[in-house]
Amino acid sequence: MRKITSVMLILVLLSLGTVQGETWSTVLLVSPINTTQLYVVTNGFTSYKTDGHSVTFSSKWSGGSLETGAFQITANPWLTVTSSAPLSVKNLSPKEFLVTALDQVAVVLPNVDVDVQTTTEIITPTSSETPTLPETPTNTETPTEVVPTPPVVTPSIEPGIGLYDPQTLQLAIEFRLGKINRQVPAATVVQIATSVSRWANYFNLDPFLVIGLIEMESGFNPNAVSTSSAVGLMQILESNFYSYAATLGVKSDPFDVDSNVAVGCKMLSNSMVTWQRPFMALRSYLLGSTGLMNSILAGSDAADSKGTQSMNYANVVLNIRNSIYQYFNLTPPKEQYVVVLDPGHGGYNPSNGMYNMGAIGLNGIYESEVVLDISQKVADILRSNGLTVQMTRTKEKDKSNPYDLEDRIRLAESFKPNIFLSIHANSFTSSTANGVETYWRTWQSKWFATTVHNAYLKQVQLKDRGVKQDTTLFMLKGETYPSAMIEVGFITNPVDYALLSTPEGRTKAAQGIAKGILQFMGIDVKPLDR
Ligand SMILES: [Zn+2]
Repeated sequence: MRKITSVMLILVLLSLGTVQGETWSTVLLVSPINTTQLYVVTNGFTSYKTDGHSVTFSSKWSGGSLETGAFQITANPWLTVTSSAPLSVKNLSPKEFLVTALDQVAVVLPNVDVDVQTTTEIITPTSSETPTLPETPTNTETPTEVVPTPPVVTPSIEPGIGLYDPQTLQLAIEFRLGKINRQVPAATVVQIATSVSRWANYFNLDPFLVIGLIEMESGFNPNAVSTSSAVGLMQILESNFYSYAATLGVKSDPFDVDSNVAVGCKMLSNSMVTWQRPFMALRSYLLGSTGLMNSILAGSDAADSKGTQSMNYANVVLNIRNSIYQYFNLTPPKEQYVVVLDPGHGGYNPSNGMYNMGAIGLNGIYESEVVLDISQKVADILRSNGLTVQMTRTKEKDKSNPYDLEDRIRLAESFKPNIFLSIHANSFTSSTANGVETYWRTWQSKWFATTVHNAYLKQVQLKDRGVKQDTTLFMLKGETYPSAMIEVGFITNPVDYALLSTPEGRTKAAQGIAKGILQFMGIDVKPLDR
């Protein structure tokens, strides 16, 4: 990500009332990106005079869409910028500005003296909202002091880094406010931008996704309260809010912007760890993970208490996010997912020159051979649905197959999995034992294990031995992605063996497993490419 540390923004917000009282004009003065040019970002405004070293702006509304007399800017001049270096002025759209800013490397700011004159006469707010006056930068080393620093101690954020830069986010929020024709005090916009910057960065979330979620949930209103007692910007249930706020060490006040955004980002982050894909994480934000799980298993699109359908909800938020990327002339992140399949056993042990073939079933069938074949068929189906699939081994009796479990999980994690599934077959001394069981280890993996287990069972119609937690399974110890181990049946039982020993049966088994993975990722209901 490129730096725009050197960019200094002075935000001047003019609140212009029409008869309807809902129109804003935003003027951003950007001072300066390099030593000789003053960049002005404007939305509906601007004329200026310059004598080379100072530039004086006049406030003149040139748009014809507002009713005459509904607003007045009478005092001129209202803003003068002076510099010892010769200045020229470049007028950019917000989009052009961002592109320009992102293209600049750090430059030393000249000593520019900005004098904002008579702004109180000019600004004519029509509501009780008081736009903040721009702060005058006093030196070249602290450009982000324009934005007040929240009191919370936790994450440290390097200012001025690309998408997470508070000023970038401020522009993004203003863009969205214009889109939904909503008026929010400038100070609140700054607060929201600053908080999203801190917490989206802290939880490694797409900040534009967080802005989309804020817009969807509360329309950028920090005091929003829903009928179901969801409170604040990201509309969090009070019971959730207080417990998360305590663990995050933020204020126990759901109407405090920074605290509320902190908790909202934490909850979205949890959803992202469990569901990996923004589309699914957003549905989970609306329904809760249990609700989303039930919705998947029922094959329906559940709604929240107000009747909001989760798929539509997720798509709206994603569309808002994408519109912000487009506004900045940036490409939204492309979703690419890595599924790591681990066909159990098959490892080569160099110390004795033997392969680990796993269990031995009826007619001398090997577990390692059964699960490799099924895994490869699963991989084919997933790849044809646009997923990237990696495997911890692709051959029987290959000396490169990992034997040691440490080596095996190191290999698996080197692929940076979004989800991980280990595929095994069961055995027992008695041939009567039969059926399917699926294991998960850490909290984020329960729903993944359950989805795969249920989809597989539905397909193969074997006995259900349940979905179980086992905190000792070594291969399932990853904590940033869901992982599970499925035992696809007993190769020592005639009924299960009938399925697992034939190509047709293994295809059927693979279809069940693949279906579960696709359902879990919501790929059975939505195109991958968004
Ligand atoms: Zn095994």
